[in-house]
Amino acid sequence: MVATALNTTRSEEIFAAAQTLMPGGVNSPVRAFKSVGGQPIVFDRVQGAYAWDVDNNRYIDYVGTWGPAICGHAHPEVLEALKAAIDKGTSFGAPCYLENVLAQMVIDAVPSIEMVRFVNSGTEACIAVQRLMRAYTGRTKLLKFEGCYHGHGDMFLVKAGSGVATLGLPDSPGVPKNVTADTLTAPYNDLEAVKALFAEYPGEIAGVILEPIVGNAGFIVPEPGFLAGLREITKEDGALLVFDEVMTGFRIAYGGVQEKFGITPDLTTLGKVIGGGLPVGAYGGRREIMQMVAPAGPMYQAGTLSGNPLAMTAGIKTLELLRRPGSYEYLDQITGKLITGLLAIAREAGHEVCGGHISGMFGMFFTAGPVRNYEEAKAADLTKFSRFHRGMLERGVYLAPSQFEAGFTSLAHTDEDIEATLSAAREVLSSL
Ligand code: PMP
Repeated sequence: MVATALNTTRSEEIFAAAQTLMPGGVNSPVRAFKSVGGQPIVFDRVQGAYAWDVDNNRYIDYVGTWGPAICGHAHPEVLEALKAAIDKGTSFGAPCYLENVLAQMVIDAVPSIEMVRFVNSGTEACIAVQRLMRAYTGRTKLLKFEGCYHGHGDMFLVKAGSGVATLGLPDSPGVPKNVTADTLTAPYNDLEAVKALFAEYPGEIAGVILEPIVGNAGFIVPEPGFLAGLREITKEDGALLVFDEVMTGFRIAYGGVQEKFGITPDLTTLGKVIGGGLPVGAYGGRREIMQMVAPAGPMYQAGTLSGNPLAMTAGIKTLELLRRPGSYEYLDQITGKLITGLLAIAREAGHEVCGGHISGMFGMFFTAGPVRNYEEAKAADLTKFSRFHRGMLERGVYLAPSQFEAGFTSLAHTDEDIEATLSAAREVLSSL
């Protein structure tokens, strides 16, 4: 494969105009390539494992619209179902049978979920779940982990730095100090830090929320005993345990990380895959807790477009496809081949790397590792990652434009796609 400088003329024109129209030219920050630098790519269309940009360059896509495209982009059966659904209208703002269908599928799949509420994004799901944690327990403090992302709700935007961490200083202007004052943080995989916080605030912490496999600080797995330890500590204190499975739900396994590792939280948030590429989020858990949500109970939460028939249809069809035998085995096999290959090629070329995968989620850090938390992730060589990212892009491989994001494969990625990716990586990594 010959390295070719990409022709991105149209992308450049469109993105230049976009910057005058929308902050940073985007509607979600990472898309702007700020952390890797260089020209962001403007997409024109997606299909299967591929994305095409407005200059007609094709990329093997390992972002998959940040997770939802687990069956491959624009899966024909999802599109067909959507085309049929659209003839009946786009939104009802009234009960719709399709909500029952998707709710039942989610309840059947996810061990912790006995009742579910659909919303429109992962952010919404996480904002609602923290309100529910507090409403149910009558406590105000939340415990989250450094480097875990739970959407842009004020209470989750807390600086993930050790010294200021437990002071709960906000990460962003516009977030009042008093809103984050009750957000405690601890390093991921550090049970002792969690125990210390529970010892400091006994009976005050409403619950612990975490990504049970981290994707938002790069790909970081829980060490053996970490999830079980959290389950034990929270139970003992009467606090709730919440798995934010917005990224991992229906990706790590059909029933998410909780099924894979056999640890059942009290509440779970979902998003991404359950919307099959349309805007959906959800939160759910034990019936007795969920019964607190309006109108069954007093905790208010609502949404004009929540449970709309198009999003429900895409979600239902996507889960049907995933339920077919062999889906997760296939994801695990091709993703394993990808990451094993990448790590070997990088090491052969003399780079210090670490990484791994579980099912269709993977990551590689440019540091010897191991990476067990955000602090260790930050030791990665970001300059090297940026050059790797650009080199891969120029060879037709679209990776997440940040070292602190996980990668995703889909059922549409073939052995040939993986081979092509590895041969691109061989060129790029030998020239870094
Ligand atoms: N939680 C997790 C674990 C996520 O990965 C994300 C999004 N990447 C969110 C919450 C927020 O979801 P959304 O972008 O749909 O608001």
